[in-house]
Amino acid sequence: MATTMYSTMYVDDIREIKEENPFESMMSRFDRAAQLLDLDPDLYAVLRVPNRELKVYIPTKMDSGRIQVFEGFRVQHNFARGPAKGGIRYAPDVNIDEVRALAAWMTWKCAVVNVPFGGAKGGIICDPQQMSVGELERMTRRYAAELLDFIGPEKDVPAPDMNTNEQTMAWIMDTYSMHARHTVTAVVTGKPIDLGGSSGRREATGRGILIVVNEAIKRFKMTPAETRVVVQGSGNVGGIGARLLHESGYKVVAISDIHGGIYNPGGINIPNALEYLRTTRSFEGYEGVEFVSNEELLELECDVLVPAATENQINSQNADRIKCKVLAEGANGPTTAAADEILHRNGVFVVPDILANAGGVTVSYFEWVQDRMGYFWREDVVNERLQDKMVASFNDLCRYADAHSVDTRTAAYMLAIDRVAYDTRMRGIYA
Ligand code: GLU
Repeated sequence: MATTMYSTMYVDDIREIKEENPFESMMSRFDRAAQLLDLDPDLYAVLRVPNRELKVYIPTKMDSGRIQVFEGFRVQHNFARGPAKGGIRYAPDVNIDEVRALAAWMTWKCAVVNVPFGGAKGGIICDPQQMSVGELERMTRRYAAELLDFIGPEKDVPAPDMNTNEQTMAWIMDTYSMHARHTVTAVVTGKPIDLGGSSGRREATGRGILIVVNEAIKRFKMTPAETRVVVQGSGNVGGIGARLLHESGYKVVAISDIHGGIYNPGGINIPNALEYLRTTRSFEGYEGVEFVSNEELLELECDVLVPAATENQINSQNADRIKCKVLAEGANGPTTAAADEILHRNGVFVVPDILANAGGVTVSYFEWVQDRMGYFWREDVVNERLQDKMVASFNDLCRYADAHSVDTRTAAYMLAIDRVAYDTRMRGIYA
């Protein structure tokens, strides 16, 4: 039997390695799943690395008239199952390791929900809060221009992520189309509905959270009305997720934004709190609640915890104090690999990020299909198809976990790697 080449890193070692490096978190889970699958060493060698990493420098004319050069990335992790797919984030601290991990997570995520895409992710190191709309537009267009040869409906299809939105996608679509000399809507997803976007895309990640939470609480024989939910984050994932959970009868007892959270064990009127946040730009001063920090929020008494902000929120330091029954990961990588074991030991049922937040990319897939057909579906059709796909994937995952006697996170990686490995083996490695 061939000697395995993947026994160098295990979950137990991760604490000594950099726990908070998302790439290490991704790789240690990948290694564990590869080990359990007894993955062929050649396939392991191919799947553990990205296909391509692009680093671009982006000269941008600032409002002052001066040029500022931003640094950006696009990592294309895998193409075995179709065009690479994944968002673009703008943040001062985004770095290549984070983008690399996020690109790999897109590959595994698309495989878990069985959509015909590979994985990619992009990022630009910038502080969007300090930039004008004009500066953001010029930076985005130049970034898109630098990626022209590498993106496209059949190659790599970007989408929004942290600090990017429908407007960002419209600029990328326009820049790409100007060079192609015709309108190419399918080059990005998450566009405005009038420009080839899909109904339901904006809410899709939050709706996906609702769908998996509905399925997960059935395992505990709970009903929404008796289920207390804590949501970290109030953006496109946390905010919309909290609103949809509230509308479905869940008792959302806490929610936060980047500055901190509000808590009321009797439940919060979420539409009201979000409207307050929208107008005052902070929860500060909101009445009838207790104020908690983002760290305290994670440790509140609840049945369902939805971390929907950023990476590394649940780690070896606080995992023992997490009290939920169900952890539904809205963000990418909110839990470090070192925390997995602790949560498992404490009996927390984890709906891992690569399933829980896959509603977004699932409706991105629907958007890409609709753009290519030139025929658009009603919102209820989009939502129904999203529901079918998420429920089927949730059930596949639970069955897989039971069949292999592993936790749901490990099962998700095993299921995804198995699918990508099968397709790679069938295509053959062009080596
Ligand atoms: N940025 C989202 C994610 O992390 C959506 C990606 C997409 O729709 O391509 O899943």
